Amino acid sequence: MFADVSITTTIFPLYDVVKNIGGDNVKLTNLVPFGVEAHEFEPKAKDIAALSKSDYFIISSPVFETWSTKIISSLKIQDKTIDMSQKVKLIEMKHSEHEHEHKGSYDPHYWLSIDNYMNVAKEVAALLSTKDPENAKLYEANLAAYLVKLEALKTDYEVLKSCKNKKVIVNHDAFEYLAQEYGITQYSITGMTPETKPSPKQIAQLIDLTKKEKIPTVFFEEFASDKVAKSIAKEANVKTDALRPVENITVAESKKGIGYIDIMKENLVKLHDAMDCQ
Ligand SMILES: [Zn+2]
Repeated sequence: MFADVSITTTIFPLYDVVKNIGGDNVKLTNLVPFGVEAHEFEPKAKDIAALSKSDYFIISSPVFETWSTKIISSLKIQDKTIDMSQKVKLIEMKHSEHEHEHKGSYDPHYWLSIDNYMNVAKEVAALLSTKDPENAKLYEANLAAYLVKLEALKTDYEVLKSCKNKKVIVNHDAFEYLAQEYGITQYSITGMTPETKPSPKQIAQLIDLTKKEKIPTVFFEEFASDKVAKSIAKEANVKTDALRPVENITVAESKKGIGYIDIMKENLVKLHDAMDCQ
């Protein structure tokens, strides 16, 4: 059987939503391989060849995929490119001293707002229904089922509103959408990208903050170094745990069919643990 629509996505949250809505009807390729840190990705020649054959190219934003603008214009695929950042509610970039290399004016991690992620799902269903109207009913049904699960996830997250210590330290500034939704303040070790190195002064400030605000957990993330998070936690005598920006999953997780919702549920347990909640 041939797939009815071919789509190339850039990062895991987009891939997962297309998989959930399109199922077997979509020949789906994700550019960032499983198990790698997504911010650092740059496509290779074979990725570009595959991309030029797809019916659609879905990017999260030209801010996150800084390499995409040039490729889209050189392949002349503007008409089949969907920039999902135009379909969601964006929040302005929080500026701090170590974000100078970042060019965009908005925070690109919008999929960590469940409402935004629902919008992405709706856009994908509409896109598939237009391209493949014969299966529109199926896409609509898949969308409806997925939205029910996302609504339930949102209801679960409401518990965070009851927490007493809503300050968290995370590896990079990926969680602002979640933070704003639930009244959390995020402090980050590396700023807007996971691999930036903090200065000794910044590290000292984070250690002081952890002690002063009685922050019980310093979060690292799995596709970037956990060294600084662990040394801050050690100095402040608190624990560490992984909190995931849902920018990617591992190869083993992809084989198990782990999705956005699974990771968001894991994150919820960890945040609940770290913020002194009911
Ligand atoms: Zn990020």
